[in-house]
This record gives sequence, C-alpha cells and structure tokens, in this order.
Amino acid sequence: MKKLALHWQILLGMALGVVFALVLTNFSWGDDFIGDWIKPFGTIFINALKLIAVPLILASLIKGVSDLKDISSLSQMGLRTILTYVITTVIAVSIGLGVVNVVKPGATIGEDTRDELVEAYGGDAELKRQDAQRQKEAGPLQALVDLVPENIIGASGDNRNMLQVIFFAIFFGIGLILIPEKTAQPVKDFFDGFNEVILKMIDLIMLAAPYGVFALLAALVVEAPSADLFAALGMYALCVVLGLALMIGVYILLVWTFTRHTPSSFLSGIGPAQLLAFSTSSSAATLPVTMERVEEHLGVKREVTSFVLPIGATINMDGTSLYQAVAAVFIAQAFGMDLSLGAQLGIIATATLASIGSAAVPGAGMVMLVIVLAQAGIPEAGLALIFAVDRPLDMCRTTVNVTGDAAVSMMVAKSQGKLGVPHVKDWDDNYPKNKEE
Ligand code: ASP
Repeated sequence: MKKLALHWQILLGMALGVVFALVLTNFSWGDDFIGDWIKPFGTIFINALKLIAVPLILASLIKGVSDLKDISSLSQMGLRTILTYVITTVIAVSIGLGVVNVVKPGATIGEDTRDELVEAYGGDAELKRQDAQRQKEAGPLQALVDLVPENIIGASGDNRNMLQVIFFAIFFGIGLILIPEKTAQPVKDFFDGFNEVILKMIDLIMLAAPYGVFALLAALVVEAPSADLFAALGMYALCVVLGLALMIGVYILLVWTFTRHTPSSFLSGIGPAQLLAFSTSSSAATLPVTMERVEEHLGVKREVTSFVLPIGATINMDGTSLYQAVAAVFIAQAFGMDLSLGAQLGIIATATLASIGSAAVPGAGMVMLVIVLAQAGIPEAGLALIFAVDRPLDMCRTTVNVTGDAAVSMMVAKSQGKLGVPHVKDWDDNYPKNKEE
C-alpha cells in the first residue's frame, strides 16, 4: 500500500486527536487522563521543534549571508524584504478593518453577555494587560536596544530573543564576507555541514508530527471553555476567520502574479508548515519546517530562505495584525463606541507595529493587542470579552503568519533571481534530501 503523504497524516492526527478527546470527556477520568498521559507528548513535540530553532537560524543565516558574496546584495535583499513585509501587513490590517466594519459583530453582543464574559475572563485578561504595560513603559528606542544582545550564549538561551540571534548571525555572516576567502572557507564548510545535520533532525522530528498534533489537539479540546460563550463570540470569530481567509487569497494572488506559481503548487508546497502552525500556534516552532518546505518544495534558494524566513517569523505577522484590528474594533463596538476614521487609521499604524513586536509564540498577539487598544482609547477590560476564543483564533492567525512569510520569501527570491525549480514537486515526501545547488 502506498504510504499516506505527510499532510494527510498530520490532518488525520489532528482529526483523531479531536475525536479521541471528545469521546474521553464523557468519562469522569477522561480530562485527567489526557492531561497526564496525552498532553505531555504534544509538549515534547513542540519542544523538539523549538530546540531546532536557534541552531537552525545560526547555521543557515550565517551560511546564507556569507554566500551573498558582497554587502550590497545583502542590503538590497534586506530592504526588499522589510518593505514587502510592511506592505503585506498593512494590507492585512486594512482587510481586517474592512470586514469588521461591514459585519459589525460587536453590535450583536448584549449587555448581559458582555458582563458575563468580563466576569469570566477578567483575571486572565489582567495578566495580559500587565505584560503589555511593561512593554509600554519601556522607552521609544527600547526595541532597538533589545536587538543587540550583550551575550550571544544568553541570547540563544531564550527563543523569545530570536531577533538577537538573527542580529548576531547576520553580523557574523558580514564578518565572514569581509575576511579573505581562504580563511573563510573552513568556517563556511563547518556551517554547511551543521546546517545539513539540522535539516536531517527536522526530518526526524517530522516523522512524529502526526502523533504530536494528535496530542496537541486532544489537549486543546479538554481545555476549551464552555460552548455558550463560544456562541456569543461566534460572529467576532467568524470575522477574524473570514479576514484571514481573504488574506490567504491575497497571498495566492501575489505569488501567482509575481512568481507564476499556481495556487495549488503554492498551497501544497507550504501545506505541512500551515498545518503545523495551526497545531502549535507558534511561528517560531514552525520555522524549521517552513524553511524546509519553501526551500525544497517551492524552489527558493537557501540564501533567501535563511535570511527572509527567520526575520519573517519574528516580525511579519499579518494574521496577528489582522486579528488585532478586528478585535480592537469589535471591542469598541461591544462597548458602544463609534470609532472615527482617524482612530481607525491609528489602528492600522499600531497594529502593524504591534504585530512586528509580537513574539512568535502562542498568545503573543493578544498581549500586544493591549497596546492597540490603549492607543485607540478602547477599554482594555474588553480583552476579557475575547479571551474565550483566543486560542482557536491564534491557531488560524499563526497559519496566516507562516503563509505570509513563505509568500514574501518567494517574491523576494524572484526579484533577486533566486527562485529555482523545486527539488520536490508537491506532495511527494519521499524526496532525496540535502541537495545543494
Ligand atoms: N501565535 C502567533 C505566532 O506565533 C502570534 C500571535 O498572534 O499570538 O505567529
């Protein structure tokens, strides 16, 4: 019998995880069983992925930058990357604002439901608010200061410091370009080999993906809050999902226009990374797989993926910014506020910046939402309104975040003449690995 392709295995794992948890919740011991015996495997799976992130960025970015041969092509690619990232983010926020203003989901929330939600989730929301307050109190240049680590070992010790690791890797790569070729070669060869080992490790971890997502989804089902609250928030959630779906359409269009990759080749190439983003709610955890898919299945050369994707995972969060725009306006509507055009334009600016500042981990977008709310003068207590549905929406927005990174890397690659023929076509997962151009 032909082996089931990876994406089907992952989808099957997800579906079975949900069904398994739904069945077990009927037993008094079911929730505990899943918490004690199933969830840990999901945690192990995510940890294994995160484990790879820092070494992967170091090895592939150092190699990628040093392969560029000269500083001017690095700065040209850097500029294109950042510009495209900002443009797609602004498009995403605008779509979010468009949808939420047309559908007006907040208007359907009654006063009773609003009070009930604030009551139920007020405490959790308060924690997010305090987190955001800490970020807000920092000076305007703090983000720049945070970019430069004082110790690379320390920076590599926390996945939230990804930008610092990226900074170090680019800096190191630049150094490598500037020293004589003969001296640089052994260092490059080392990172080359290091990179291959990491890619092989990703392959091995992905063998466990169907089981990992089974455990993650089963744990999510038993931890989900009550169904009534979900119903009250249905329209809001629908707006976010609709906006996100439109954004996926925008990527498909952009990729098609700029690279002539058909929607099916793009989606099937990036599919497993999308499914993983959905299951883990973390662009950072998904990064190793995103890089592998874009390189092997979508034909982007490693010089580009190693630069564009790690940066994208940390700063390009189109799904998150779209969600922040919808959530902010929804909360305003629920509190009966009318937002002026100026306030909505302000949301475009703050949501773009807030998504850049959001860490690529579960729930980060909600922390930064506080800043968007504060800037627009919307009550922060409103966070409690949307808390119940945040996790499923986090799963969806992370999927869009990862898709956006992939789309932009293809466009940048095309503009740099670095989009080649994929090593593997679509869903064939049994491809020869580790091919170098
Ligand atoms: N979970 C998202 C990510 O990792 C960030 C967020 O929106 O919370 O991409």
